[in-house]
Amino acid sequence: MPSPLSGGTEKKERKALPPLARSPPFSAFGVSLDSSVFSPEDSWRARRYQMRRLGLGVGADVLAFAVTAAFLAFAPRGGWPWAGGLPPLAGALYLALMLAARAGATLPLDYLSGFRLPHSAGLSNQTPGGWLFDQAKGFALQLILGGLAAAALIWVMMVRPAGWWWVAGLLGGGLGAVLALIGPVLLAPLFFRFKPISDSVLADRLAALLRRTRARVRGGVWEMDLSRKSKAANAALVGWGPSRRVVLSDTLLAEYTGEEVEAVLAHEVAHQLGRHIPQMLIVQGALLFSGLYLAEWLLARPAGLGWMGISLPGSSEPASLPAVWLTLSVWGSVWTPVLRAHARRLERGCDAFAVENTRGTGGLASALEKLCRKNLADPSPPRWVVGLFHTHPAPADRIRWARQRESRE
Ligand SMILES: [Zn+2]
Repeated sequence: MPSPLSGGTEKKERKALPPLARSPPFSAFGVSLDSSVFSPEDSWRARRYQMRRLGLGVGADVLAFAVTAAFLAFAPRGGWPWAGGLPPLAGALYLALMLAARAGATLPLDYLSGFRLPHSAGLSNQTPGGWLFDQAKGFALQLILGGLAAAALIWVMMVRPAGWWWVAGLLGGGLGAVLALIGPVLLAPLFFRFKPISDSVLADRLAALLRRTRARVRGGVWEMDLSRKSKAANAALVGWGPSRRVVLSDTLLAEYTGEEVEAVLAHEVAHQLGRHIPQMLIVQGALLFSGLYLAEWLLARPAGLGWMGISLPGSSEPASLPAVWLTLSVWGSVWTPVLRAHARRLERGCDAFAVENTRGTGGLASALEKLCRKNLADPSPPRWVVGLFHTHPAPADRIRWARQRESRE
């Protein structure tokens, strides 16, 4: 799963995953490792970097939300007859304008967090042109996928004025599943180049781990050329079915020992054995369905929010798009802390699996420590930051726990 470090199969294979009950509780947030591992200067530098990054990210999200709300409040209502009298086309054009306004408003903050900040910390290798090109490709993808989704939503609202939420939910859930399927094969290569791992000794070692743990990673283990853009290292389990694969960055493969890479792969394998990707898709689908139900309920009561000074458009007109978007955003945000807490529990279970399946190497603690240092991750972020934003337990907590566990193996 995409992560700073970051899974299902047959019943007998699932036994290999330690039950969550055996994972330690998340009681150690915010603890510091001893200063021989991270000096106070290192920790302070990482804290400052990560808090700036977080501030810029939250700022961009708030700005994008405000732009979407402005569309709901000020953009013309009605059927947008200049779209040739085709409501789905009007919806796609409306969404394109909204996405362009959002991107324009957040571009300066995105530039600071995505380019300037990592450069000033010595973490990025990207040129300004390369960064802009990536932004342009990302925006083009948003336009194509968002335009299709908007056109489909307006069409569904037209043909099914009552009960459109569940048809739209089915279509949206289907689109999410297709994107998760084709993402690693068709979309990720727009940004990175991939190749099978070239180091044959390491490849054999990783293949042995996959056999030992009976993990079915049908797409195999791939190397990603992250070093063209960044000095950070990363690993992820992505895709499902035939596209399910583990991706390891070339920076990880070049700078980490065989034991460390094996432990990182074992952690990713645990995501696969635990069926974490299908689980995530189901949870996201449930959020989408319930959020769309809420949006339909609101749009059916145009005067319902009048006491807040908000007038809602009727459904099936393009102006309903920002209303649906905002409802889904707020609904998703409400659930985010709960989902994050669940994700952190899963990550802890994957760490436990990695330690058990790489016995005696000490690879996990050492890999986590290196990843934290090289990625300039904050070893002990404030508890509220972990609670609200982090999908992984605090690195210092993970490292100390892995070290204790490895010393017992
Ligand atoms: Zn993970």
